[in-house]
Amino acid sequence: TTTISPLIAGNWKMNGLRGSLDELTALAGMLTTGEAPRALVVICPPATILSEVVHQGATAGILAGGQDCHTESHGAHTGDISAGMLADAGAQYVIVGHSERRADHGETDAQVCAKAEAAIGAGLKPIICVGETESQRDSGDAENVVAAQLAGSIPEAASQHEVIIAYEPIWAIGTGRTPTIEDISSMHAAIREKLTARFAEKGPSIRILYGGSLKPQNAREILAVENVNGGLVGGASLLAKDFYTIISAV
Ligand code: PEP
Repeated sequence: TTTISPLIAGNWKMNGLRGSLDELTALAGMLTTGEAPRALVVICPPATILSEVVHQGATAGILAGGQDCHTESHGAHTGDISAGMLADAGAQYVIVGHSERRADHGETDAQVCAKAEAAIGAGLKPIICVGETESQRDSGDAENVVAAQLAGSIPEAASQHEVIIAYEPIWAIGTGRTPTIEDISSMHAAIREKLTARFAEKGPSIRILYGGSLKPQNAREILAVENVNGGLVGGASLLAKDFYTIISAV
């Protein structure tokens, strides 16, 4: 069996002004004075403070990521940001296909796939998000929905380059509700099976993160589940103390 080093990523979403960098400083302090973290730590702040996160996080080993990127490298796309620009600012990761982007901006699997490909092309590691709605879970379709998202959203380039999958049941995001440990375990096993079927020997080494209401109180139990190789954390990543507790739960 392959051992995968865990990764904990914080998704700040549309939260974070320059003042939020105090939380980053606090987190950096905890990470440098406490026991060395067993997980890679990534923060995905708003693009406006990305370069500050890159520079202030560096001494504590905190890596930075974007929250989205365009499929193109440059051009007439007002308001968008390219993977190359994120890399230029010092990012090493980028979230693509977050359910909020899929919902608010109508992003399809094909677009998410193109974004992941653009990220790889710019030297970034894409964190590709998948996850079912509540009604899809209730009707027993969760695994099929996720399988289709995986098939459509992961570029072929993943056979040669690092990608990360984040399983985020939509009904668990920001709601305080989480799937049972058994449900997380069986979904992550199903995802592993798909990755191995498609990417052969590479499949077992691809990180599969869990996301959706991860918090200090449930992190230890969820992060210990087989095939859960870390977490993607929204709300609880905004406070250094909470995020540090989650990191330390690995
Ligand atoms: C997310 O949106 O990526 C997420 C996991 O959010 P939360 O932790 O707030 O549920």
